[in-house]
Amino acid sequence: MKYCVSCGSEYQEHVKECADCPGSELVDAEGMRQRGLPLPHERDTREFIRVGSAEDPLTAEDFVRLLESEKIPVFSRPRRAGTVDVLTTGNPHPWWEILVPEEHVQRATALLEQEQAQLEETAGEAAQAAEEEEREGEQTGTPTSS
Ligand SMILES: [Zn+2]
Repeated sequence: MKYCVSCGSEYQEHVKECADCPGSELVDAEGMRQRGLPLPHERDTREFIRVGSAEDPLTAEDFVRLLESEKIPVFSRPRRAGTVDVLTTGNPHPWWEILVPEEHVQRATALLEQEQAQLEETAGEAAQAAEEEEREGEQTGTPTSS
């Protein structure tokens, strides 16, 4: 097998040039190793693991920014709820999963939990404020339509 030094695609021995990278060199596995380049199957061992999910793209973006600011490689991708999801969660809406490399899972999970708690707290405070406003309105005897 030979590999393209630019994109890492795998090729048969007789191939002379990568179909995607004109002019780039094809080398064998040893050549890749010498250049410090990952082979396609080795690259797959660096798995990205889901550490969280978001129900809307803005939250997903927020999570990504948070992890990026902590120097954690991260990406999010939209998922369409499959039949199984609808059956188990009853949620037919798309959602976004947040993925980080294996070695960052623990830290990323902790950060996201923190962020999630903060978001919920903010939402809770807003609800509480609205409730208090309502109560105050009653106390001061806001005129009603009667
Ligand atoms: Zn290539």
